[in-house]
Amino acid sequence: MKPIGKPKMGIFDFTDCEGCEVELINLKDQLVDLLEGVEIVNWRLAKEGNKPGPFDVAIIEGTPVTPHEQDLLREIREKTRIIVALGACACTGGIPAIIDDERDRLSFYKSAYPPEYKPRGTEAKPLSAYVEVDYMINGCPVDKREIARTLSSLLRGCAPEERDYPVCMECKINDNRCRLVNGEPCLGPITMGGCRAFCITHGKHCYGCYGLVKDANFDRMVTALEEIAGRGDAERMLGMFMSESEEYKRRYGRR
Ligand code: SF4
Ligand code: SF4
Ligand code: SF4
Repeated sequence: MKPIGKPKMGIFDFTDCEGCEVELINLKDQLVDLLEGVEIVNWRLAKEGNKPGPFDVAIIEGTPVTPHEQDLLREIREKTRIIVALGACACTGGIPAIIDDERDRLSFYKSAYPPEYKPRGTEAKPLSAYVEVDYMINGCPVDKREIARTLSSLLRGCAPEERDYPVCMECKINDNRCRLVNGEPCLGPITMGGCRAFCITHGKHCYGCYGLVKDANFDRMVTALEEIAGRGDAERMLGMFMSESEEYKRRYGRR
């Protein structure tokens, strides 16, 4: 990979809570240093006079749930060298993908909006369901240090290193008591590392927001979780961030 000279960058968001973009902004001075020499061509949240491209790098947050967003994503892909998915919504479908059934979705719309509202939302899917994605920064929200690591590699012309180990590894480094061993649920063994085992270190279980780690033993995890929490809760836990994975669809066969 060659270093990108004076890269043109676009930062986009589809349907989501924008929490990951807030993390990007939370980099503060480091963001200014990172983006020194970068031309921000389009960033709706931060500037006016946005241009339609082309882009060397597009950072995209959120999941495209309307036909308009899906068309826009395809358009961005055509004009962009490197697409980086930012956050669980973009990488895995995230929280919006929990509601996969159209009837459930319509019933939620009905309870949240006035009767004249005409819903346009389709099923929430990761960006990769529509276009090729080059790199992913996982998490809900992402860890700003992971944003800095990825951007700094890309802007130097290097491919960001893939996190191919599970949360358990970082959990051990932090010397945490293992929840699974103590009969409590935790998705750490099948979840991609990178968050430094944030939730376990702060007294909660891992609920899988970084998505599946490479070569995850999904079926073994299901068995362990079902023994601890029962089938329904195991399925709900796994469906929170992994419902769009092949492993989940194969196991539960309904998405
Ligand atoms: S991944 Fe989480 S924090 Fe980021 S935009 Fe989606 S819902 Fe918000
Ligand atoms: S608490 Fe969870 S993340 Fe930590 S070692 Fe046990 S299973 Fe792995
Ligand atoms: S511990 Fe699990 S749920 Fe918590 S931030 Fe890390 S990957 Fe996400």
